[in-house]
Amino acid sequence: MNASALPPHLPVRELASIGIVAFITTREAGSYGFPEVGDDPQSAARWHALQRVLADHGAPRLASARQVHGTRVLVHRDQWEGWVRIDGADAHVLATGGAAAVTIADCVPVLVAHPSGVVAAVHAGWRGVSAGILGETIRSFATLGLPSDELHVHLGPSICGRCYEVGPDVYEKLTGWPTRQSRRVDLRALLAEQAKELGVSRWSASAECTRCDNDRLFSHRAGDAGRQVAVILGSALTPP
Ligand SMILES: [Zn+2]
Repeated sequence: MNASALPPHLPVRELASIGIVAFITTREAGSYGFPEVGDDPQSAARWHALQRVLADHGAPRLASARQVHGTRVLVHRDQWEGWVRIDGADAHVLATGGAAAVTIADCVPVLVAHPSGVVAAVHAGWRGVSAGILGETIRSFATLGLPSDELHVHLGPSICGRCYEVGPDVYEKLTGWPTRQSRRVDLRALLAEQAKELGVSRWSASAECTRCDNDRLFSHRAGDAGRQVAVILGSALTPP
């Protein structure tokens, strides 16, 4: 593998240990957002370039979506070639290999991997965390015969618990605790707790915060319009 061909990124070493390639691009790679989020017109060209590089790395297809902070999980079973962008979804499970990508700039990129090579990429902001998109994703693995106790969940770079303050309504939705004031929440800690409750025993989290490490990563709350992309490569599920 010629890793130098990938755009500038942070590798997910925790998944490399089970043979899964995953990474998150850095600010240096440029933005992978879209004009609808006020981003620069170069982003589509970056996506096409990314797809070509991933094809060289053994992933002939790349799944992405216009993200809507919902709980729709796409389970990809087709074997298309090239880059697809589906309308209105926040999670991708790859049953037949290829690569899946989500864009983020404070929300949590959740990368889920089964040792068989079935993987998922999930975009989880406070709405997704509150609505249970991680649970929906893990249930999608179960429908493929892959139980939660065999999964590894990695929580990538996102805004940290010291930098992320939310209003009383959002705080109560996320924690169940009523409050009258704005409070800080740690989305990755909430997701780790959900993962544990869903039966996941192997999880890891990136040390980076999009806002604390704003020199290297885009942060919406720090005023950036740009987005980094989190990518995970899978391999086809072999029928038992
Ligand atoms: Zn921070």
